[in-house]
Amino acid sequence: MYSSSQEVKFKLVLVGDGGTGKTTFVKRHLTGEFEKKYVATLGVEVHPLKFHTNRGAIIFDVWDTAGQEKFGGLRDGYYIQAHCAVIMFDVTSRVTYKNVPNWHRDLVRVCENIPIVLCGNKVDIKDRKVKAKSITFHRKKNLQYYDISAKSNYNFEKPFLWLAKKLAGDLNLEFAEMPALAPPEVVMDPEDTARYEQELKLASETALPDEEDDNDL
Ligand code: GDP
Ligand code: MG
Repeated sequence: MYSSSQEVKFKLVLVGDGGTGKTTFVKRHLTGEFEKKYVATLGVEVHPLKFHTNRGAIIFDVWDTAGQEKFGGLRDGYYIQAHCAVIMFDVTSRVTYKNVPNWHRDLVRVCENIPIVLCGNKVDIKDRKVKAKSITFHRKKNLQYYDISAKSNYNFEKPFLWLAKKLAGDLNLEFAEMPALAPPEVVMDPEDTARYEQELKLASETALPDEEDDNDL
């Protein structure tokens, strides 16, 4: 499927509540920001994010809204023909995590079976409200989860690497080099990152509680 001279392109839709950091996240990738295109009919900015892998180049056309999500759901045209998605919430705002199932429902209504990554952003902020043990949605729906901090570039590439592996059907796919990113605006405390990684590992090894709120299944 891949050769080093080929590029493959995938549409990635970025969703989640307003203010969670979606636009900040996508703008970290410098060439994507430079080459972005505004689609006026949909009110969407498309950032072509290129990554070099051991199987050739892969481009994620990342769709970012102009803020329409603050006023409710997004139009079907936003989701149609997406190959993959990132759902973002803000770990300092519980309501943005509570809304994740709504974004997931809207997404899978149009895109039935695409790889999806859930990202908890702003983990650089000391006063974290949504802790690893309460982040369980991805386990019920088979999504991947990452803590990220757009402002510090922490784990920036992780969602893209996981999606690239899924889309290529190749778990041995790796990034050959990192794309140029905007310099960090904040620096993560290494003690925090070590603790968060430990807490996530522990949470992943803990059985899911029986929940009665699974009535959408
Ligand atoms: P969007 O509405 O989801 O596109 O969110 P924005 O990208 O506009 O970000 C909303 C606010 O959150 C802005 O003030 C950003 O500077 C801030 N923000 C975004 N990402 C981070 C992050 O990783 N850490 C911190 N501390 N603030 C962030
Ligand atoms: Mg935005």
